[in-house]
Amino acid sequence: MSQEFLPDLLLAWYARQGRDLPWRHTRDPYAILVAEVMLQQTQVERVVPRYREFLACFPSLEALAAASRAEVIRAWAPLGYNLRAVRLHALAQQAVQEFGGHLPADPQALRRLKGLGPYTAAAVACFAFDLPVPVVDTNVRRVLARALLGEVDARHLPPRQVAALAAQALPAGRAYDWNQALMDLGATVCTALQPACARCPLERLCLARPQMERWQAARSMRERPADYRVNSPFQGSSRYYRGRIVDALRAVAEGASLDLLALGRAIKPDFEAAELPWLLDLVQRLERDGLVRVLADRVMLA
Ligand code: SF4
Repeated sequence: MSQEFLPDLLLAWYARQGRDLPWRHTRDPYAILVAEVMLQQTQVERVVPRYREFLACFPSLEALAAASRAEVIRAWAPLGYNLRAVRLHALAQQAVQEFGGHLPADPQALRRLKGLGPYTAAAVACFAFDLPVPVVDTNVRRVLARALLGEVDARHLPPRQVAALAAQALPAGRAYDWNQALMDLGATVCTALQPACARCPLERLCLARPQMERWQAARSMRERPADYRVNSPFQGSSRYYRGRIVDALRAVAEGASLDLLALGRAIKPDFEAAELPWLLDLVQRLERDGLVRVLADRVMLA
């Protein structure tokens, strides 16, 4: 079978087995933007409920722009990586000012919004406005490299080469489904470490397929079981305590603050006064990121 049939096979598979995700039921550019920002550092399963809750709180770009930053952080915080909330809020305010609350379709115009990178611009352009642009995330890059170039590991490929390949592969009139299908295949079948070639719709055409078993065998020889261990929880890291601080401040009444000692005890049961400089450093960094406000020895959500 010739490679020209590859789009048909992938699109037919997507029609049968594509994931039913809430952001695939809308063409609202704002809702798609929210989903894409949430998906950047969080797995799909965790994003789904938070996406619905966030849109219930802030149903439009204008509603988000009009909210206080503290309200947005409160709504976002269960998802983590709260800096995204600050950036999304700022982006909404800029979009309301510059585009009257309507996100533009053109990826170049979207890129004028601070913090909106090429991937998100392409995703909004394609998934909201149906523009024929490739949407290339890590999963898509890996599938394209394997299926079309025979490259088992796409990480060394120059971004330009991947961009050209993705643009060339885009089937006319099917950009939306094609991009979503590549994402699904990369997330559920052609995964980074354990591709399930035997149940892949592209098995007969994929250029990397003949090497995959050898590659997997060599990889399991190289990597001892410890290499597979799930990353130890980030408990104890700065990121962990940053999240705990935001959670503790969410728990107090809106507009209320906590003094540093109370905050320390809320995030760390064995907190001692000697750790106040460490805590102050953490909250000052959160303040620089726009997540909290520090008023003398008291802290509140920004
Ligand atoms: S055949 Fe294997 S390597 Fe090729 S696209 Fe499918 S899962 Fe990936």
